Amino acid sequence: MLTLAEKVKQGLKTWALVNSPWVIHFNSGSCNGCDIEILATLTPRYDMERFGVKLQGSPRHSDILICTGPVTLQARDRLLRVYEQMPEPKFVVAVGSCAISGGVFQGCYGVVGNISEVLPVDAFIPGCPPRPEAIIHGVVALLGSLKSKTEAAIKEQA
Ligand code: SF4
Repeated sequence: MLTLAEKVKQGLKTWALVNSPWVIHFNSGSCNGCDIEILATLTPRYDMERFGVKLQGSPRHSDILICTGPVTLQARDRLLRVYEQMPEPKFVVAVGSCAISGGVFQGCYGVVGNISEVLPVDAFIPGCPPRPEAIIHGVVALLGSLKSKTEAAIKEQA
């Protein structure tokens, strides 16, 4: 059972995470098509920052890992290292058909598989490449489900 102070602390942490998630982007083997669309979401035209989302360079400061492409043999260990350096709670978003299933790179000799074969994925955004609106929708939906899950967990422990 949580004390009132613990409930307030947990609520504040969720509020901060949901309103100001910092993201890091990792290309583990994509053709760059999905990456261009992710960059577009951060431009003034699509403006993902209006949801508090900020692109980060360091995994140590990031809450969400946005992955594109299949996972190549060369990128696998680096992807794992980036994920391990992120603080808890951390989330993974797979952007594009290749990240979800391997896409056109499925079965290639240098490809290990899709993102969920290497990391636990919290949200999948389909498309080849997905439009910036779809990427923003996926990230915002993830934040919404995070909020309701945490609120439910706090109620359960109360
Ligand atoms: S989903 Fe399409 S755009 Fe994205 S990495 Fe694969 S081939 Fe490229």
